[in-house]
Amino acid sequence: MIPESHPRYESLLTRELIVEGIRNGITSMQGLIAQGRGEAFDYLIGEKTSTCALQAERVTAAMLLLAKRPVISVNGNVAALVPGEIIRLSDIVNAPLEVNLFYRTEERINRIIECLRSLGAKKMYTKSDGLIPGLEHERAKVDTDGIFNADVVLVPLEDGDRCKALVEMGKSVIAIDLNPLSRTAQCAGITIVDNITRAIPNISKFAEELKDSEKDELLRIIREFDNKKNLNNSIKEIITYLSNHGNLMPP
Ligand code: ATP
Repeated sequence: MIPESHPRYESLLTRELIVEGIRNGITSMQGLIAQGRGEAFDYLIGEKTSTCALQAERVTAAMLLLAKRPVISVNGNVAALVPGEIIRLSDIVNAPLEVNLFYRTEERINRIIECLRSLGAKKMYTKSDGLIPGLEHERAKVDTDGIFNADVVLVPLEDGDRCKALVEMGKSVIAIDLNPLSRTAQCAGITIVDNITRAIPNISKFAEELKDSEKDELLRIIREFDNKKNLNNSIKEIITYLSNHGNLMPP
């Protein structure tokens, strides 16, 4: 038991979820390393949602609401960390879930599908009859009705190659990645530099607020957003945080 008074309580609880995911055959061992990398960057942004991230999360809600064939991609870390929250978002914006793994095994895919179904997921794409062009076989497998055909794909904790391949297929790709310098963060159309545990509930909240908005209003929100600028500001926020807390940089 981790005492609530522990200064790293939230972070340690999150870590436990990943470990539990591995025990349940949902998360890969490599997922631990990805989580560690994410934690390091979360430190650098002060373990809170920045203004830049909030803006990207609002635009994401607008994009998902406007999309014709939106899909939310789920991997082993996502399924371990935010299974209920991702199902809720899927329901609000009407975007089915599709399990898509870097270290793919049919057994792990099926476990994640079962886990999501047991928690109430209704809309899921579960075939693997399509291939994302330009990637080697296992990592490329997708559902032709799902990610293959989607216009907007939300890819939390994605790998850079696959993110690039999805962009090259002409899709609007939204990434959630704590590392603003990762290839994924740099190549996505919209980049949310935030912990997925905070980002998904925030997107759901914005989607609830915006779901009765006129199409023109949603389009305006998207048009006014500049991802490159937002991403650069996310990096600047890290520099400011470091200079305020570590006395590492000149004021
Ligand atoms: P790329 O190929 O895009 O350069 P990578 O090889 O660094 O990425 P992975 O090691 O697969 O990517 O890790 C996935 C990414 O997810 C990392 O950039 C990490 O910062 C991020 N990440 C890990 N945990 C979380 C989390 N809880 N919330 C948001 N992002 C996370």
